[in-house]
Amino acid sequence: TPVTTNMDTLILEVEKFAKNRKTEIESLKVREAYRKEFIGNVSHELKTPLFTVQGYILTLLDGAMEDPVIREKYLNRAAKGVERLIYIVKDLDMITKLEAGDLNLNYTNFDIVELVQSVFDLYEMKASQKNIVLTFDMKYLEPVIVHADKEKIQQVLSNLVVNSIKYGKEDGTTEVSIENLIRNKVIVRVTDNGEGIAQGHIPRLFERFYRVNKSGSRKEGGSGLGLAIVKHIIEAHHERIYVESDYRVGSEFSFTLERVKQFPVVDISTKTP
Ligand code: ADP
Repeated sequence: TPVTTNMDTLILEVEKFAKNRKTEIESLKVREAYRKEFIGNVSHELKTPLFTVQGYILTLLDGAMEDPVIREKYLNRAAKGVERLIYIVKDLDMITKLEAGDLNLNYTNFDIVELVQSVFDLYEMKASQKNIVLTFDMKYLEPVIVHADKEKIQQVLSNLVVNSIKYGKEDGTTEVSIENLIRNKVIVRVTDNGEGIAQGHIPRLFERFYRVNKSGSRKEGGSGLGLAIVKHIIEAHHERIYVESDYRVGSEFSFTLERVKQFPVVDISTKTP
């Protein structure tokens, strides 16, 4: 009868409503857990450098200030700690924006060869402290023009090159190479012969705050966010990122970019008819 049909429809509607509410609540719970975990991680990351800086300042106030040599040493260390805090906060700001999808990419055409060179210039000193040589394997001598957000790609290259130095071995090498892929793509590889990563860690490597060796990373001033930032930036470009690594042999991180085809400019005036 029509009455039962109406009742049935009503029950179905109520059930559907309850199910939707349940999914909504579930997803809110997931987001809440995620937020709590993030805040927990952040406070944990900030605590160590904050206590370090506090320690130096308190020791100075406690009388260490009298000795000019110690004073200078401790002030320098406190400044280093503050510098580390600034790096962590900058990385946190970046990851928050990337995860919220709040970061607009500013696409331009630029020469990736030149960008690699400028990143090398920035980290040459850091590399030389471990006697690591930065080399560039160029398959072609001409510029390679890509279409991407230059500042963000510079950050990607910097994070990968810095990691290769941090986790590289004394007297090692970091090599960057650029190669044409099929069609309009290039692949940029950053390869080192450093400590490498055991296979079991690889699936989680790009998660924020994930580290293979916690104390090793902190000692090197890492925030544990570098690779998460790299992955987000590459994915925001709709490109791919890969990692291959062998424990104690070395690692290779690579990513793709869109290449702008450059047609050779023919000077008509010099052409004989
Ligand atoms: P971190 O600030 O700890 O360097 P990242 O997100 O950049 O954070 O890297 C996450 C972890 O991945 C590092 O702690 C390190 O264990 C590992 N890792 C990253 N790059 C390399 C590399 N080139 N060689 C070996 N291990 C690496």
